[in-house]
Amino acid sequence: MRWKGGRSGGGVEDRRGMSGGAIAAGGGGIAIIVAIAAYFLGIDPNVASGIANQITGGGAQQREGTFGTPGDEEGLFVDKIGANINDVWTATYGDSYSPPAAVVIYEGGTGTACGQGQAAMGPFYCPGDRKVYLDLSFWRELDNLGAGNTEAARAYVLAHEFGHHMQVLNGRSQQVQQAQRSLGQEDGNRYSVALELQADCYAGVWAVNAPKVSDNQVAFEAGDLEAGLRAANAIGDDTLQKRSSGRVVPEAFTHGSSAQRMEWLQRGFQTGDPAVCDGTFAGL
Ligand SMILES: [Zn+2]
Repeated sequence: MRWKGGRSGGGVEDRRGMSGGAIAAGGGGIAIIVAIAAYFLGIDPNVASGIANQITGGGAQQREGTFGTPGDEEGLFVDKIGANINDVWTATYGDSYSPPAAVVIYEGGTGTACGQGQAAMGPFYCPGDRKVYLDLSFWRELDNLGAGNTEAARAYVLAHEFGHHMQVLNGRSQQVQQAQRSLGQEDGNRYSVALELQADCYAGVWAVNAPKVSDNQVAFEAGDLEAGLRAANAIGDDTLQKRSSGRVVPEAFTHGSSAQRMEWLQRGFQTGDPAVCDGTFAGL
């Protein structure tokens, strides 16, 4: 993947090295995988904030970190990819788009408006403070999940979380929450799946448009779409369920099957048109 020539300024808030890990991240591989099955690329915001609130009893306060472009390569990657994602959506939507309040890089645990964030939750977006949360140790987890710790996989994860930010701006997130209030668990889950697949689709739309807003300095190169698809395949609900319990329960899907996640990432990439991503809600 090409990214080093991209512009900086992706809105990183660096909380690494700060205390705030009130809840230690679980150490066991199985515990982490189960947590990731529930949370990974998180986010039905309702569920996420609900569970987090059970843990902490409400939004957790956290001292702000350092805003600016990190000096290390991993932090720089997040900053430059974030800047490029913002540029793509600004080019598409103009003033209707505004960047997330921050992309918070943290270690172990940190306070969010949605409750205590933990590394074991995987990357997530909190609508309450409009920030993306990311513990960079998750990149190593990508390998454990069979997703492949590639730059393209990392970029896909980031763009997916920015997709959830888009859904707050365009009202999809609120529509889903509204619909889920009057639905049972199974039907509610279908809305979560539609929301998650739409975020995957947005990630594909971002990836194919990245070079256009960066003078070709940020771009998927040969093999990168495949790497992204491999990651999408590895984090499908059916694949994660098989890993954690050995069986597949489609009614409990919240993010979509591996096949669906790959399909929508690819569809976004092939069309480059975010309107196409509304298709995940067809039939609901
Ligand atoms: Zn998600």
